[in-house]
Amino acid sequence: MDRRPGFWKFMSAHPPRPPEPAPRISTKQWSIDDFEIGKPLGKGKFGRVYLAREIKSKYVVALKVIFKQQIEKYRLHHQLRREMEIQTDLRHPNVLRLFGWFHDATRIFLILEYAHGGELYKELSKSHRFSERQAATYIASLAQALAYCHGKHVIHRDIKPENLLLDHEGRLKIADFGWSVQSESKRRTMCGTLDYLAPEMVENKEHDYSVDNWTLGVLCYEFLYGVPPFEAESQRDTFRRIMKVDLSFPSKPAVSTEAKNLISQLLVKDSSKRLSLQKIMEHPWIVQNADPMGSCSKLHNTNPFSN
Ligand code: ATP
Ligand code: MG
Repeated sequence: MDRRPGFWKFMSAHPPRPPEPAPRISTKQWSIDDFEIGKPLGKGKFGRVYLAREIKSKYVVALKVIFKQQIEKYRLHHQLRREMEIQTDLRHPNVLRLFGWFHDATRIFLILEYAHGGELYKELSKSHRFSERQAATYIASLAQALAYCHGKHVIHRDIKPENLLLDHEGRLKIADFGWSVQSESKRRTMCGTLDYLAPEMVENKEHDYSVDNWTLGVLCYEFLYGVPPFEAESQRDTFRRIMKVDLSFPSKPAVSTEAKNLISQLLVKDSSKRLSLQKIMEHPWIVQNADPMGSCSKLHNTNPFSN
């Protein structure tokens, strides 16, 4: 009898899917011997991410290495399985691709699209805030990616700057799909920030797709002002501010009326009254400011103080 826990049985029964539309990595059962491992790209809560290259095709990827022991300790196999299932099925220029996965006795390896530009969060910390062009380009990319995901009945629920990566052209990629689905409450107590969560989520109420629209409002504010709108000393105060929708626009830095208008239409307590993703894409501030190619690479050196 196969005594392995259900998850590992699942892993064996579901070998990595072919990575369409990039045919450079063929359909096969991957192993660590197929990759040259390069520099570490980062460290997550459950493992590390390395730059890697598939030896035959020379295709560069990011290899996320997760220790099985960690996953079992926190009983996270369902979330991980879900992340992998969801992300494997998504194909959008602004959603980080998961090409496949494999495992050995102690580790699970996720073969991910390499985001050369790293975390959007780092860019934001470096420049403190983005220009209106950059902010609008990122919000438009996010709205397009989320419209695609919602169309596939996927709600991200954990969109925040740490989960947004940039490719070599400065194009935004949403990462960490599905990871949050069952671990929302755990995550909140584990690592803190309520800042990006909609009122119905901080209250643990029923919620739908429009939680992601709220988060776009929070991000748009943070991109332009450099801090999230409901930031406070304690979680309890952030909770109160979110519940009251205690939103204010400081006079400095100067932000356009159109941008504030968009933010105000997203940070709405009644989830049914939030601006739809389609309407975000049609909003005058987005239309006038967003780069249609979704690339901010040429904008990286622009001065965020001069819009
Ligand atoms: P978790 O996803 O486990 O909740 P996390 O988001 O903190 O945790 P990881 O997703 O493991 O961590 O990633 C750790 C770091 O590695 C990221 O913060 C990022 O800097 C880098 N990284 C992750 N994936 C990629 C990628 N595909 N391309 C480039 N860098 C990446
Ligand atoms: Mg991550």
